[in-house]
Amino acid sequence: MPIAKQEFENGKVHSTLEDEILSFLNERKDRAFTSQEVMEGLSYNAEFSTPEISKMSSFTIADFTTFLHHLVEKGRLKTKIVRGRMYIMAAGEISARCPKCGAEVIRPEKTWKMAGRPNKKGERLQLQIGLYRCPKHGAFRTVLEKQKIQSAPTNRVKRKKRAVKRKAAKKKPKSGAWVPI
Ligand SMILES: [Zn+2]
Repeated sequence: MPIAKQEFENGKVHSTLEDEILSFLNERKDRAFTSQEVMEGLSYNAEFSTPEISKMSSFTIADFTTFLHHLVEKGRLKTKIVRGRMYIMAAGEISARCPKCGAEVIRPEKTWKMAGRPNKKGERLQLQIGLYRCPKHGAFRTVLEKQKIQSAPTNRVKRKKRAVKRKAAKKKPKSGAWVPI
């Protein structure tokens, strides 16, 4: 259904589809997809069963391709021809939104990792933090990634293990003692 010019101009610049494409590819950073696979992944399925649907789908594909192209131009995605097909991948830039105005800042100025205290299992929560700069509101930080990592056993854990071993050794019957069969 056509929409009024006013509505068109007031509309957000396809942010939803952009966000969907980016989150789909960012969640699968280690893989590259064809544009059709991305479409299928987002369930914008291309259907070619009837001429009418086929015609509509071609338009959808063209729209979709335009979105992808736009994202490549903005440096958010990268493309490469492999074995005669074009593949798309997340560009590896992690954007963040300014907490004050919501403006999107594409590249962090700096990123670093921090790890919390280990829990009883020796697991630590590792955070990757990014420092961004909003042109209006200055620097802000965002957690980019949370990951549980296994840390080397601490001295406390080692001592505990040794104590358990000693206890087990104590329980063992001494050689020469009578043992039930
Ligand atoms: Zn801002």
